[in-house]
Amino acid sequence: MRIILFGAPGAGKGTQASRLEEELEIPQISTGEILRRAKADGTPMGRAASEYMDAGKLVPDEVVVGIVKERIQQPDAQKGYILDGFPRTLAQARELEDMLEKIGAPIDKVVSLEVPESNLVERLSGRRSCPECKAGYHMQFAPPSRDEICDKCGGSLVHRDDDRPESVRERLRTFEAQTAPVKDFYESKGRLARVDGVGKMEEVFELLREALRK
Ligand code: AMP
Repeated sequence: MRIILFGAPGAGKGTQASRLEEELEIPQISTGEILRRAKADGTPMGRAASEYMDAGKLVPDEVVVGIVKERIQQPDAQKGYILDGFPRTLAQARELEDMLEKIGAPIDKVVSLEVPESNLVERLSGRRSCPECKAGYHMQFAPPSRDEICDKCGGSLVHRDDDRPESVRERLRTFEAQTAPVKDFYESKGRLARVDGVGKMEEVFELLREALRK
């Protein structure tokens, strides 16, 4: 199954996509994660992307389209995948449609996790993650047992540069301006399913599964 998962920054897309990855045994393809890794590794692409990312702006379309094109051709993506954080502009959505039409492997489901903006800011400001094992925490809703230390592997938790208030505001503005029209694009084709993303992780996951079954 090929899935697009939409959601504003902080809507829980990444968390739900990794649950789906386990359940459906198809890879989660997160353009944000691929870019963060490239940035940490200091590759030319990572260096070029980092100024956009730190400012809460979108990385140019040709860069992310190139990443996705290459990633969906890998052997582990042949049974399907979950696109997390892509497409984020109309140009990306159109490129994706063209790319998939050519190989005769269209997207099966487009789901949007809906969370009101006031909840998003609260979620993002408390978010922490472990750079070693990728475990996610929230200082208020899912804190680690020792302050800022990962329960699973003992790594030091980090607050993403772009989860700081200045970047968060810009990311939410960018989402509204550029990504909301992409949702409209799929909605106008009658292909968008909306899932209420407020609630406990397991409850949201159940709603998501239901939406994918329909
Ligand atoms: P995310 O982890 O999905 O919130 O992505 C983190 C950052 O990576 C975003 O704020 C953008 O700067 C960049 N990024 C991730 N995916 C895309 C995309 N599809 N198009 C442009 N920029 C992206």
